[in-house]
Amino acid sequence: MPWKGEKDPYKIWMSEIILQQTRVEQGLAYYNRYIKKYPTIKKLAAAPETAIFKLWEGLGYYSRCKNLVATARFITTELDGEFPGTYDAILKLKGIGPYTAAAIASFAYNLPHAVVDGNVMRVLARYFGISTPIDSTAGKKYFTELAQKLLVKNEAAHYNQAIMDFGATVCKPQQPLCTSCVLQKECSAFRENKIAKYPVKENKLVKKERWLYYIVAEYKGAYFVKKREQKDIWQNLHEFILLEMDKATEVEKLLETEAFINVIGKKYKLLDVSKTYKQQLTHQTIQGCFIHISLGKLIRPEGYELIDKLKMSQLAFPRFITTYFADEKGRL
Ligand code: SF4
Repeated sequence: MPWKGEKDPYKIWMSEIILQQTRVEQGLAYYNRYIKKYPTIKKLAAAPETAIFKLWEGLGYYSRCKNLVATARFITTELDGEFPGTYDAILKLKGIGPYTAAAIASFAYNLPHAVVDGNVMRVLARYFGISTPIDSTAGKKYFTELAQKLLVKNEAAHYNQAIMDFGATVCKPQQPLCTSCVLQKECSAFRENKIAKYPVKENKLVKKERWLYYIVAEYKGAYFVKKREQKDIWQNLHEFILLEMDKATEVEKLLETEAFINVIGKKYKLLDVSKTYKQQLTHQTIQGCFIHISLGKLIRPEGYELIDKLKMSQLAFPRFITTYFADEKGRL
């Protein structure tokens, strides 16, 4: 990975933000694209927000991108482009939590701060046979303190990288390589044959179901689109006219609802109704479809603006919508 052994805090920060909630295989291409286009924090800070968001398209969890822009601009204007050099100052930056702060502090400056991610907690839980759930408040505190105690203080960068790599490649979530593991003799989970038991999780996550119906309203070669400003999923990304329903709704019925008529009126031609799309987010299941219509007269839906077909590709949309674009290629 290009960020392994990296000492530039900007590049470490970029890789860590991209890799939050993203698989390495997927994140790698994004990291390379960002670093190529914006090789320094000053270049990133000077770039237009739309272009930065466009590059993020498909990666999800867009609040990360929003924080990336805010932090790059803060460091450039307030700190003269110099990334802070202490754990506490790094932790104060927008979008940076204890894990990312420890990663930047130790990898860039070799400061004695232990990283505590899923890999680290799994290794510790198995090795010491710890039953405290890793996703509980008590668990997070316990594992953070233990990791900090175990850290080899003058070799923080190597130690952190080693334990994370060990978790990712040897003490893996599924089928860990116990038979060839160097820690086998001392490992509590291995000795007691309880590897599958660790790490323990509370799993309190309840997934919310949402039904989104997008009206792809076309008028003279342009579409009504707006930027999502509210504090919700996909903030700062664009979308078509949205009707959110509390349950699955037949399109015929939806076209008769007051909500639809109030926004669109009755002068339109139904061109197409897409299949049902589904996207699984960490806390939400998103389902819905796209209703493509052609408007007979100009309407003024609040907050939306008409964007020419040819300019649509410059805007960033959530994956839910880009998947629809890909399916409709050449038809929209
Ligand atoms: S013996 Fe198995 S469970 Fe224990 S640390 Fe090694 S890989 Fe992980």
